[in-house]
Amino acid sequence: LQMKYVKVSEVVQDAIAITENQRLEKQIDLRIEGNEAVVVEADDRRLIQIFVNLLTNAISYSKPNTCIHVTYGTTEEEVFVAIRDEGIGIAPEEKNRLFERFYRVDKARARDSGGTGLGLAIVKHLVEAHKGRIEVESEVDEGTTFTIYLPPRQSNRSGTKTV
Ligand code: ATP
Ligand code: MG
Repeated sequence: LQMKYVKVSEVVQDAIAITENQRLEKQIDLRIEGNEAVVVEADDRRLIQIFVNLLTNAISYSKPNTCIHVTYGTTEEEVFVAIRDEGIGIAPEEKNRLFERFYRVDKARARDSGGTGLGLAIVKHLVEAHKGRIEVESEVDEGTTFTIYLPPRQSNRSGTKTV
């Protein structure tokens, strides 16, 4: 990884731009809410890839004329980015398998959306390479939220912790 300090607002904007055509074709709306000042130590290209994969899923597994919400900020210890859709949702029994390579939920397969089932496996790998974690909350036919949590700094220098 090529680590540097990057503005979360900028990588989010880049990922939104990359997925914009697909989103507009489906007439899916977007709302972004976040603190512009939030910075994270990360590999920006990899971070963009994480958000492109999550946005592509949010678009693919939503109906037209719905909305995707991107929210980012900080807690005391972490930077978070949440991507929420109003799509088909994920059944509780599928949640554990989502991050396996080539795993696709039946519904998605039947819809012939053309994916390979690698997107979330890549996301999980990249998030963990950044010492972060990913959480998913979902309600069938209501929507899904994927939230990424990242440590703001990667270094372990003593003195950077205030605990
Ligand atoms: P690709 O490799 O092109 O990303 P994919 O989208 O099928 O293919 P993943 O991104 O790994 O693969 O997602 C795995 C499965 O999880 C999807 O096939 C879909 O069933 C389900 N899924 C992922 N994101 C969502 C979402 N936002 N809403 C509903 N289901 C989702
Ligand atoms: Mg995908």
